[in-house]
Amino acid sequence: MTKHVTPGDLRVFIEKFVEGYPKATGQKKIWRLPLAVTAKADERFDILPEIAADDHALPEELLSTGRSVVIFFVPFIKELARENHKGDVPCRNWGLAYESTNKLINKLCEQIKFFLEKAGYKSALIPATHNFDHEKLMARWSHKHLGYVAGLGRFGVNAQFITPSGCAGRLGSLVTEADFGDSPLVSEKELCLYKNGHKCLACVKRCPVGAVSEKTGINRKKCWARLNSNLHKTKELADLEQTTHVCGKCQVLLPCSLGIPEV
Ligand code: SF4
Ligand code: SF4
Repeated sequence: MTKHVTPGDLRVFIEKFVEGYPKATGQKKIWRLPLAVTAKADERFDILPEIAADDHALPEELLSTGRSVVIFFVPFIKELARENHKGDVPCRNWGLAYESTNKLINKLCEQIKFFLEKAGYKSALIPATHNFDHEKLMARWSHKHLGYVAGLGRFGVNAQFITPSGCAGRLGSLVTEADFGDSPLVSEKELCLYKNGHKCLACVKRCPVGAVSEKTGINRKKCWARLNSNLHKTKELADLEQTTHVCGKCQVLLPCSLGIPEV
């Protein structure tokens, strides 16, 4: 016996979880209200090996009985973004936010799975990170590309993912048997100012190692080298987890950091 669950029910569940998380865990509140979209697990996702890694997994590979893909975005508060703006290396709180948000996302996914299981639907989960191919510098399950297909946001020049709540934050996703249908938040072709023909390129100027270019977008090798050197060579990130590859300079205090950029 299954119970009907709507995308609205799911959104409320996700919002309540993120809102209650600081109190439940004793952590500082560093998150704004999350966003979530759902999409039918259909042939639109076949484009993933073309637009993301060529070995990108398809929803049915995660769950053969899956009917929907759920993608959510947990945005950071403005104060954290402002703090990470200073200097060329990330602040320690940005690194800590990366770690604690990954934990939040993993717990949230487990709770969604449990919530849907009680309604009679199985789900398959992917960790918030650690699905990254260090040779190709691409993820085999890219929350951003899934979000693109499902209408959660659009890519900026810097390959950051611009949602209605901006790009400063982290994403999570899962595949489930629940039939949610499509509930996109974005229908525009592009949200980035420059891609829409306006002046900006603030992200290009912001990168401390010149890894973002107007013509070719992001140079993943240069960016990855910087994330590694931030982790291993800066005192700000000393003692953090060995997977805390962060920078975020092209995610903060830009027109697209906290919302859809306005002309
Ligand atoms: S900073 Fe400007 S050019 Fe760069 S992604 Fe954001 S809106 Fe686009
Ligand atoms: S994350 Fe940092 S190094 Fe990478 S493109 Fe953005 S600003 Fe440059």
